[in-house]
Amino acid sequence: MQFAANKKFLNQDMWCLVCGSLLFFLVAVSLKNANVKALSLLGMGICIGWFGSRCLLSRNNFGNSDSQTRISTDKQEQIRLRGQNLVLEMLNQKLPVKSILETLAGLIEQQIQGIYCSILLVDPTCNRLTHGAAPNIPKDFMTMVDGLKISPRNGSCGTAAFRKETIIVDNIKESSLWGGKFQEEALQSGFRSCWSTPILNAEGNLLGTFAIYCQEPRKPENSELSLLQTAGQWAALAIERKKTQDAFTAYHENLEQEVKIRTQSLQVAREKAEKANQAKSEFLSSMSHELRTPLNAILGFTQLLKMEEKISDDQVLEQQTNHIMKAGEHLLELINNILNLSEIESGKVKVSPESVRLETVFTEISSMLKPIATQKNISLEFKLNDPSIFVWADLMKLKQVLINLISNAIKYNNFSGKVNLKAYSSKNDTVAIEVSDTGQGIPQNQRSKIFEPFVRLKTSGAKTDGTGIGLAITRHLIQLMGGCIFLKSKVEEGSTFTIILPKSKELPV
Ligand code: ADP
Repeated sequence: MQFAANKKFLNQDMWCLVCGSLLFFLVAVSLKNANVKALSLLGMGICIGWFGSRCLLSRNNFGNSDSQTRISTDKQEQIRLRGQNLVLEMLNQKLPVKSILETLAGLIEQQIQGIYCSILLVDPTCNRLTHGAAPNIPKDFMTMVDGLKISPRNGSCGTAAFRKETIIVDNIKESSLWGGKFQEEALQSGFRSCWSTPILNAEGNLLGTFAIYCQEPRKPENSELSLLQTAGQWAALAIERKKTQDAFTAYHENLEQEVKIRTQSLQVAREKAEKANQAKSEFLSSMSHELRTPLNAILGFTQLLKMEEKISDDQVLEQQTNHIMKAGEHLLELINNILNLSEIESGKVKVSPESVRLETVFTEISSMLKPIATQKNISLEFKLNDPSIFVWADLMKLKQVLINLISNAIKYNNFSGKVNLKAYSSKNDTVAIEVSDTGQGIPQNQRSKIFEPFVRLKTSGAKTDGTGIGLAITRHLIQLMGGCIFLKSKVEEGSTFTIILPKSKELPV
């Protein structure tokens, strides 16, 4: 453009001066006066001389890079500011880095006629450059360049990335850096020269390359070279800022997620605490109710005895003292159970696990509970697939658990019912122990509740003795031994309580 402007200026000058000289020449020829003739020839000489010196000066100006750089410095500064603002604006709009780089490449393409820009990015996982942006370069060429190796002699970009310096290849056809399919494809795409600059961050780490492809074999002018390097700096700014932005966004999202999780867990903890508090109040109120019932019975019958000072009827006397005794026993059982449960809940109860042979425990408990079962004509049997099954448990606590479950199976069973005890090896080195009965069963909506203290089924509450604490203690003890308990039941058909305990790895000495 500069060159064209100068040319136009010279053409105008030339016509003016040629006309001027011709005029002086005609005047000199037509007039006879020697003085005027000499003056006209002098004027013509001045015109020719001035025109000659303008030509020389102008020619010098085309080749003088200093004056050209001087002229383009202002323009370059304008472009630099425009580019920088554009990058910042696009970053502000949170545009994807690809479209920012594409706009950048487009902006540079607008500044120099007949050039094409490409931005390659470093793949941190391997020593290669991958496609970043090249809005106007043929797709085939970019596909081939994608994954270009960073090495001392690999085209303009691979070499610029390796050396971390601007590489100017003014003739792709003849350059020793270019060869093979890259050279072929570049020439086929119409590229004759390629100037590439590394994109470096503030610490000097390589982020990618910015390349200008030209359709003529030529070197860049100073202004073009400085524009290329400025473009590399913009690209670095865009890539680095985007990285920081992305890291910040990820951190922010992470933080939000963490706050969400924390809030949720706090909410769960609060709900748990509220439930525990409510359970505690319910426990206290049911406990006082349970304690008051037998105590009232004791006080009531004692008052009766006191009122009827002389009870002639021995039968009535015996009946009333029996009531008092039963209520006293119930009270004692209740208090013992409450103490037991509160000890477990406060973490005071410790377990001492050992290898326990189930067959021995089953035999012992069966003979202990058979008399009670016989009273209701209930058969009590046990079955072991493998007589040498050992569990890893606290012997005394395991017995307490089994006695409670089998007692319940007898207590809540029908007359002439059945109670079966079974044990077998289960998944993941565990042993399953089943206690099943043919009793009244437990409705679905009550199955988890009966493990809470003082919960008794309406069907069993009035008819059968009990405190409603046994299953709560049972579950706690099993959990202390590293196991769990679950229940299957069918109303009117019976229930099966299954305990899972760790299998013993060592046999007793
Ligand atoms: P308790 O037997 O002293 O009432 P538990 O905690 O052992 O207390 O049992 C709680 C309640 O669960 C019992 O009152 C009874 O209603 C019900 N229950 C327990 N075992 C059985 C069973 N095998 N069959 C039917 N109901 C049962």
